[in-house]
Amino acid sequence: MSNMLFVASECTPFIKTGGLADVVGSLPQALQKEEKLEVRVILPLYDEIDDVWKNQMEYLTAFDVQLGWRKQEAQLFMLVHDQITYYFIANDYYFTRKGIYGYYDDGERFVFFSHAVMESLRHLDYRPQVLHAHDWQAGITVALANIMKPIEEMKTIFTIHNLKYQGVMPLHIFDDFFNLGKEHIAGMEWDGMFNCLKSALFHADKITTVSPTYAEEIKNPYYGEGIHGMLQERSDDLLGVLNGIDTKEYNPSSDPNLFVNYRTARLKKRQNRIKLHEEINLPYKEGTPLYIIITRLVEQKGLYLVQHILDEFLEEDVQFIILGTGDPEFENYFADLASRYPDKAQAILSFDEGLARRLYASADFFLMPSKFEPCGLSQLIALQYKTVPVVRETGGLKDTVISYNELTGEGNGFSFANYNAHDLLNVLRYTIKIYANTTEWQSLLKNVNKSQFSWKNSAQQYAEIYTKLIPESIIG
Ligand code: ADP
Repeated sequence: MSNMLFVASECTPFIKTGGLADVVGSLPQALQKEEKLEVRVILPLYDEIDDVWKNQMEYLTAFDVQLGWRKQEAQLFMLVHDQITYYFIANDYYFTRKGIYGYYDDGERFVFFSHAVMESLRHLDYRPQVLHAHDWQAGITVALANIMKPIEEMKTIFTIHNLKYQGVMPLHIFDDFFNLGKEHIAGMEWDGMFNCLKSALFHADKITTVSPTYAEEIKNPYYGEGIHGMLQERSDDLLGVLNGIDTKEYNPSSDPNLFVNYRTARLKKRQNRIKLHEEINLPYKEGTPLYIIITRLVEQKGLYLVQHILDEFLEEDVQFIILGTGDPEFENYFADLASRYPDKAQAILSFDEGLARRLYASADFFLMPSKFEPCGLSQLIALQYKTVPVVRETGGLKDTVISYNELTGEGNGFSFANYNAHDLLNVLRYTIKIYANTTEWQSLLKNVNKSQFSWKNSAQQYAEIYTKLIPESIIG
């Protein structure tokens, strides 16, 4: 059996701000069950992690982490959950804060985490053959693994879940927090700054991203976030593997968060919806389609397009609910919108997993007109709850949602190509037309019910990448 170590900053069920946590929480299970690989995961031990988990953790050891001229202590904990071994790195200074990101020294916090991961490799009775790091917070582990070789034969994979976030800091971080020769600056510097993501792109044996379309898009300036040149250089080692979702976890027939469980029955979706409207204080209007958004409130998610056309759209006989937190600009806008349309729209500005599930279960349409979208899990969750996605054709949205075609009867959602508000409005008006036509609506729902995005295929693709990386001689 081959040994993998995942390194990441979030992972369900312990700590989540977005799709990264879902992936790190479910891919190891799939790899272990379907592909017979042993996968362990290492994470920071945030204060925010629930005591239910903390109480189950076993203390392993403590050690010093050298950061430039000074030392910081780290403690290592372990927890086995659902047959996966998780390691947690604790530090009183960096990880005992509220929330998990958004601090002025986030860069330093995850540089510390990366050094601590390297150090912990000396203390674990586990010898990974592949270190698989996710997003910029884990990027420096890839560079350190390659430079310091804590395990000589260990290979590295870096997965880009979102290129926009790169962990960029002033270059002096290299002198302050590393004990490496100056010759290593070049691999970690980009555009005059220290860049965690670039460090990983430079040092990784293989680079993956979370959909085939995004893997192509990011080599171009429009999607490349200033680093497309580096991705072009490494394009032979860059692969797109579509994310899956944990179909046991996201399952409307057993999800305990729902009012009523169901497989495909619209009647039961409606029962959920009626109760949901009571819960969130929006009058239920029989016969109107319900459109929802569940997202981080950031520009990436196409919210300027939504903002531009929502008043016009709400002239139609529709209802709209948004659940999200993020930029105050959007929070204010949606709160105001809800107050202007008390019978038609509601905005819940919080992060609430249970409510998210009840929304997926109640809605007819899920809007995701992203400006860019590496993969997107929300549209997959929506499909899983038999809610029709309306998306822009970019990244993983393009790879998972096929626009409904009345002539052929194919397609599991609706889409538009250009980042243009009225293209979104046109497609939204078209959804109303299809919703009102029983034959077309049923034919679309049949396709929605058949859509499947389990990890099976993707786990197989990752397993192939690992197997190619590990020399024959050391495969266990
Ligand atoms: P991203 O990773 O860019 O945030 P994804 O679509 O890949 O986007 O994943 C988002 C995940 O976070 C989904 O599981 C979605 O349901 C969840 N989510 C986003 N915002 C909220 C919220 N306010 N409350 C509950 N869940 C949320």
